[in-house]
Amino acid sequence: MLFMEFSHCCERLENLSGRLEMIDLISKELPGLSEEELPIFVRFVMGRIFPDWSQTKLGIGPNLLYEAIAYVAGEKKEAVVEKINSTGDVGKAVEELLAIKSQTTFFHEDLDLVRVYHELMSIASQEGKKSQREKLLSVRRLLGNARPLEGRYLARIMLEELRIGVGEGSVREAIAKAFGVDSALVEHAMQALNDLGEVARLTRVGPEALNNVHITVFHPVRMMLAQAGTIPDMIKEHGPIAAEFKYDGSRFQFHKKGNWCRMYSRRLEDVTGALPDVIEQLLGAIDHDVIIDGEVIAIKDGRPMPFQSVLRRFRRRHDVAEVSAEIKLVPNVFDILYLDGETLIGLPLSERRKILEITVNFFIAPQVVSDDPAIIGQTYQAALDAGHEGIMLKVLSSPYSPGQRGKNWIKIKPEVDTLDLAVIGAEWGEGKRAHVFGSFLVACQDQGTLIPLSRVATGFSDEQLAEVYDLLKDRVIAKSGKEVTFEPNLVFEVGYSELQVSPTYQGGFALRFPRFVRIRDDKDTSEIETLDSIRERYQRQANSPQVQ
Ligand code: AMP
Repeated sequence: MLFMEFSHCCERLENLSGRLEMIDLISKELPGLSEEELPIFVRFVMGRIFPDWSQTKLGIGPNLLYEAIAYVAGEKKEAVVEKINSTGDVGKAVEELLAIKSQTTFFHEDLDLVRVYHELMSIASQEGKKSQREKLLSVRRLLGNARPLEGRYLARIMLEELRIGVGEGSVREAIAKAFGVDSALVEHAMQALNDLGEVARLTRVGPEALNNVHITVFHPVRMMLAQAGTIPDMIKEHGPIAAEFKYDGSRFQFHKKGNWCRMYSRRLEDVTGALPDVIEQLLGAIDHDVIIDGEVIAIKDGRPMPFQSVLRRFRRRHDVAEVSAEIKLVPNVFDILYLDGETLIGLPLSERRKILEITVNFFIAPQVVSDDPAIIGQTYQAALDAGHEGIMLKVLSSPYSPGQRGKNWIKIKPEVDTLDLAVIGAEWGEGKRAHVFGSFLVACQDQGTLIPLSRVATGFSDEQLAEVYDLLKDRVIAKSGKEVTFEPNLVFEVGYSELQVSPTYQGGFALRFPRFVRIRDDKDTSEIETLDSIRERYQRQANSPQVQ
């Protein structure tokens, strides 16, 4: 497939608003693609380049991209930035710049999908001191051969934000439709493989191939997530349920094969280097090849320490030894996904638990199984007394559902009024804070679209503002006066006193007294609060006696 054909397809998708029409359009493209093209198309159309399990990063920030665009367009970088700010979209800006330039250029090598992918792989593989220069040259070469419309999508793909409104769910449906397979089966395979590109390839082979998928060690699987709920509802619905402490630390997925092991964070980043002591503890407790799921917490004098201390450890990779002495980290293991070549995620929790108990010798999170609300209530109290966040209730017959925030895992914790929101913009600070961002625009999501909800300017220490600045400074995609817009990547937990109905923001809600609580760098922007859950909170708040 020529990259131009792909670009036309993206353009048509961008102009559609109905999900079904999008699914239909994508499903018609898939059967004609070659073996090599199919997974690439599937990932590109979602604005992704590499498999979701992969640690490969393109390593191109907006700055490098702007520099390459400036070179190719024969403009100054400032002019490029100006153009991006005025169009509010890197893709459109590149398209316009290339359109002006192509009036004077006659020679183009045709780009095709596979070649673009190979170029991007080679850009990703450039590492080391001179890599930025090499990456720049490669991006210049790619953009130099791009026609204007191709430039629009190439630039957006390089920033991994295609903005054509195609989500993973739609692509999954399109794959099912294209090859006449049940979409639940496509989802089943995705859960184990964590790469929709590969899943598309197997779907074409047939249902049998999808049924037979296995998890691969060192290909991290998305974490199963929890919903809020209540003890009586869970018992009423399921009878005996499993209750575990809800540890307030950082989620991990530990993979071990022979003498080799890796540890992944909730965002599936490889954090092996940051946690040598945790790894050592786990290796001492397991002889088999496994993938296990758990939460690592920080302990001081026998009690759990605040979550921030764990995160700090995840982030600091340089002075690991020094910090290890300061904070003791302890893994709590609560699930097993794979054992010695067998994929276990389809087994009921009760079975997985038995396997876990005979496979892992220490660090298993205690579990109470009961249908008595009083006993589960005591477990909840015991968790709070011991300084944990609350409890998790789990349905004993449930499979492990990667990436799902379903009703099979329910979290019970004291109601706190905080929301996890994406940081989408900021305003520069004032006075002594003039060199950092001072107030932030945060957003919730509605079906994958970001909806601004509030500005957050309080609750930060100077140190936190500096840290946030560091994390965001290379993510600026547009500027206007004192305002900047970010490529959404960072999640804040934001406290508030009350939700208010407000015409100021498009979602119809605003926060009263918003304040920064902490950075949630274990979460990515797909996991932020939804507009629906905010509506529900608003409803609960309206019904609560405190507000009436
Ligand atoms: P939340 O982040 O509030 O949605 O709560 C879900 C998170 O609780 C999971 O992603 C885990 O990081 C954490 N967690 C702590 N203890 C457990 C447990 N026993 N089982 C599952 N998740 C747990």
